Amino acid sequence: MEPFPSRRAPLYKDIPDEKWNDWRWQLSHRLNSLEDFEPVLNLTDSERKALSSKGLFRVDITPYYASLINPDDPHDPIRLQVIPTAGEMVEFTGMMEDSLAEDRHSPVPGLVHRYPDRVLMLVTTQCASYCRYCTRSRIVGDPSATFSRQDFEAQLDYLRRTPQVRDVLLSGGDPLALAPRVLEELLTQLRAIPHIEIIRIGSRIPVFMPMRITDELTDMLQRFHPLWMNIHVNHPNEITAELEQACDKLTRAGIPLGNQSVLLAGVNDCVHIQRKLVQDLVRIRVRPYYLYQCDLVEGAGHFRTPVGKGIEIIEGLRGHTSGYAVPTYVIDAPGGGGKIPLMPNYLVSYSDHKVVVRNYEGYITTYEEPLSYATHDPKTCSFCQNKRVEPGQSGVMGLLDSEDLAIKPQGFDELHNRGGGQHRLRADSHKWKPLGIGSGEEE
Ligand SMILES: *Cc1c(COP(=O)(O)O)cnc(C)c1O
Repeated sequence: MEPFPSRRAPLYKDIPDEKWNDWRWQLSHRLNSLEDFEPVLNLTDSERKALSSKGLFRVDITPYYASLINPDDPHDPIRLQVIPTAGEMVEFTGMMEDSLAEDRHSPVPGLVHRYPDRVLMLVTTQCASYCRYCTRSRIVGDPSATFSRQDFEAQLDYLRRTPQVRDVLLSGGDPLALAPRVLEELLTQLRAIPHIEIIRIGSRIPVFMPMRITDELTDMLQRFHPLWMNIHVNHPNEITAELEQACDKLTRAGIPLGNQSVLLAGVNDCVHIQRKLVQDLVRIRVRPYYLYQCDLVEGAGHFRTPVGKGIEIIEGLRGHTSGYAVPTYVIDAPGGGGKIPLMPNYLVSYSDHKVVVRNYEGYITTYEEPLSYATHDPKTCSFCQNKRVEPGQSGVMGLLDSEDLAIKPQGFDELHNRGGGQHRLRADSHKWKPLGIGSGEEE
């Protein structure tokens, strides 16, 4: 691998390039204690307090990623993502350990089956570095709680007998943190299942440890196409020459890259930062995919922003920059309703003959609806004849209704009806009111 024009904290200036550019060296020299950070950063009292307390979510940072932090800036956007502060120890109301109710939607440990045709497969609890706002801090980071061979077998077994699943999303933890042979074995097993069309990997390793993206790794990955990957970049400062090179290797191996970022107070809750971020991403051929509203996960309360901030950011992107650069802003519904997209209102009003819409500059225009409309004929359409009716096609809150599934995955009913259906989203089980009907009262 060519040497990187690397930025390094002064502590690492004498480390030979072969070591610095070796991901194994980066992994085994991660920083995790007060003593480790002292020579690298000017720690604040709040950081000292957090780093000296027991029971916090695991801390571990690769020397590469730590070197991107400005040691004298307590508000550095990279620092805030990985160095704990006392804010993490504050108990905010409404926060949950498993805010997406993933455990309740797991037919077997580590496999979350929430949508009809795709599953989330948690394959490891380990990451190269740990994000302070981790949605899965309940399981991630604990080396004793990692998945066993039997867990993998049970996950694969479920997939083999569930033909609806055409898309498997590997996550964790970070799938690229798995031992290379374990990852290869897992991909081999998944590829042997005929109904699995695409495999996706969600990984932050290109950001935390870009040297992990070796030719050897991409050679291995490209044997399992179609393979897609989402990386996780939150701030333009994370887009280094090293990340660019890692992404280049991945895209040259035919892996389409997307980015998922999390909207974080003090890190990227600003339209100017976000615009630079998404433009830099498309420049390195990474398509912004989702911008997540911060989950209600314990320890992340101080990172939350109002939803209006996310909408303002999308308003400042759509039309103002390349459409390719605009992610979908989503809330992952607390309690497990899945991802819900949000965007500014461009539809001003709507009637049977015209719609009134506005553009990104606020310019208002109308679109005349057609006077007559000869629709496509479902009776003669071969796609309609072979259709699978999917949940969500009927009923306002039909998201988790499985009654309409023409072919139900084995175990789907038990899974979604467990506990007498108490966890099924219902209009009347939430503070939810249709727009315009709510009286403003709680419950
Ligand atoms: C995010 C997620 C997926 C994938 O959703 P897409 O919108 O297809 O990217 C699948 N399963 C679970 C449980 C998820 O949280």
